[in-house]
Amino acid sequence: MDSLAAVNWPAYETEALNAVGAALSEQELDEARVKYLGRKSELAQALRGVRDRESGILLNGIRSKLEAAVAARETELTRLANEHAAEAGVDVTIPGTPIGRGRLHLLTQIRREIEDIFLGLGYEVYEGAEVSTVWENFDALNADPAHPSRSKTDTFYIDDDTVLRTQTSPDQIRAMQAKTPPIYLVSPGRCYRRDTPDATHSPTFLQVECLAVDRGITLADLQGTVLKFFRTLFGAEREVRMRTSNFPFTEPSVEFDVTCFICGGRGCPVCKHSGWIEMGGAGWVDPNVFRNVGLDPSEWQGFAFGFGIERIAMLRHGLPDLRAFWENDLRVLGQF
Ligand SMILES: [Zn+2]
Repeated sequence: MDSLAAVNWPAYETEALNAVGAALSEQELDEARVKYLGRKSELAQALRGVRDRESGILLNGIRSKLEAAVAARETELTRLANEHAAEAGVDVTIPGTPIGRGRLHLLTQIRREIEDIFLGLGYEVYEGAEVSTVWENFDALNADPAHPSRSKTDTFYIDDDTVLRTQTSPDQIRAMQAKTPPIYLVSPGRCYRRDTPDATHSPTFLQVECLAVDRGITLADLQGTVLKFFRTLFGAEREVRMRTSNFPFTEPSVEFDVTCFICGGRGCPVCKHSGWIEMGGAGWVDPNVFRNVGLDPSEWQGFAFGFGIERIAMLRHGLPDLRAFWENDLRVLGQF
């Protein structure tokens, strides 16, 4: 919030648009882009700290305007370069070697879309860490000391106390230790497991974790949030159902299914003729997890849910094989 309030955003936008408009070369344009839109820009930092809907809309609006201005200036610079070449006697109408225009990876596009939905619900986007302690990844999440997922054949250990996170759930632990509730956060990121790559498994994959901790929230809030999220992502006619399940860090736990967005619930090969598609897991934060991070479970309640980004991309675009996302074949990735 501090970085949000400390910046005069209309002035920032004007200054950025002026810098983009004044860029006389691709290099100058890129410098302006990095300064005002890059990962370390004030805009990107403020977007990461956004907690309310109005600010999210304001900052995303500025981001869209600046991205459009950069693209327009790029086209203009190309046109000017062609004019100069023509004046110098170069025939620019001779076909050149086509160079494809770059774009965001499909998984990045979907991740941004998911972040925008949660920003609109008043959540903050939280950046966790891919390297996690064994305590954060397993113990604090109430995992059984003998759980097979802890084994060195399932998990990448850096040393006896440190792993590459196997799920985004340790971000819950880090966030609850670092922040004072109420907490509403969504944490997307890469996870790692010692899986052999095949059509539906990969040693690295993207998950999204959602965590809400507050006083007086109920399972109905979880259901409403999940429903709102999937309707925004897949269409207003979607229904969500929950089935009981079992995760160490939630009690009770559920898995949720969404009505198939290919057949609308009538049944098709994508939903294996059930009309429903499994999307992820969720539940009520286990009192032991609250105790592990020093919160009093009689005072605070909360829910968490998580799902895979690749799965959403595969289902939405009918992609049969997960490996397409990591093989970087531009003939595939260029279609999105
Ligand atoms: Zn179907």
